[in-house]
Amino acid sequence: MKALAGGYAQARDLRHALDLLGQADGMGRVLAGGQSLIAAMNMRLTSGDLLVDISRIAELRGVALDGGWLRIGALTRHAEIGRDALIARHAPLLTRAVGHIAHSAIRNRGTIGGSLAHADPAAEFPACVLALEAVLHLDGPDGRRDVAAEDFFLGVFETAIEEGEILTGISVPVAQDGERHVLREAARRSGDYALAGLCLLRRTAGHRLAAFGVGPCPILARGAMEKLDHGDIDGAVAALSGEIDPPGDTQASAAYRRHLAGVLLRRALSDLEGEQS
Ligand SMILES: Cc1cc2nc3c(=O)[nH]c(=O)nc-3n(C[C@H](O)[C@H](O)[C@H](O)COP(=O)(O)OP(=O)(O)OC[C@H]3O[C@@H](n4cnc5c(N)ncnc54)[C@H](O)[C@@H]3O)c2cc1C
Repeated sequence: MKALAGGYAQARDLRHALDLLGQADGMGRVLAGGQSLIAAMNMRLTSGDLLVDISRIAELRGVALDGGWLRIGALTRHAEIGRDALIARHAPLLTRAVGHIAHSAIRNRGTIGGSLAHADPAAEFPACVLALEAVLHLDGPDGRRDVAAEDFFLGVFETAIEEGEILTGISVPVAQDGERHVLREAARRSGDYALAGLCLLRRTAGHRLAAFGVGPCPILARGAMEKLDHGDIDGAVAALSGEIDPPGDTQASAAYRRHLAGVLLRRALSDLEGEQS
């Protein structure tokens, strides 16, 4: 099947992109790497929109240190994130996530902004930014605004991005000395979306645990985090089981995904111990 597109416009810069979206009367769709959007259009899951291509907007690309924050442009590609030295040093969770996302052709085109805006419940980056306490930057008809990752993901493929808005980038607090980051997931084949996955951070202030593939959007497992802070691993596994809401489908039952989440938590904890030795 071929995609049905009403029109296409390439934006010169962010202002131009926002103007194009504003003129599209609610029918504009942002095109970044196209790895999810074009697939959806080919399957006729979406059609008749004006595609506003933001892929050549230089100001939305790149990684920079800004005080205690790492600023990552929305158009930074998965592969660029995977080899960026600043990210490897200050937010290694993102580096680790890249190896689990699809395969090289998709990693060479897909962007972190596209992944976050698409908000697939089984995607890695949404759970990473939740665990990392990132802030997402939006620009739109009413100006700029920042949204905490905890308030950004609202449901299956649903985010806090409003009509006419563009995600311009994210800011991630830089890892403190001794901070550890681990990502664990289970997928049927390498590069498939995860059946279940976890991002686990150990900071001086405590643990951060975000789960993906086990609910309508990434889930911050606060109960499990508290148990981990008290060294209660069995309690954390039990708490996590109560905090997730896994789907059942042809890939795996809900019960199997719930079981997997507990197994992954124990493995992630042993990864953390291994990192410290
Ligand atoms: C076969 C296959 C396997 C995959 N496996 C995985 C996987 O294992 N894990 C994983 O995480 N992902 C996976 N993906 C998805 C991939 O990571 C995509 O690159 C990503 O989800 C979307 O990024 P993109 O830049 O291509 O966005 P696009 O496809 O261009 O856009 C996706 C959506 O986000 C919107 N959007 C994009 N950028 C912005 C922005 N800056 N502001 C506002 N809205 C925006 C678009 O309008 C669209 O609705 C897979 C994709 C394919 C085709």
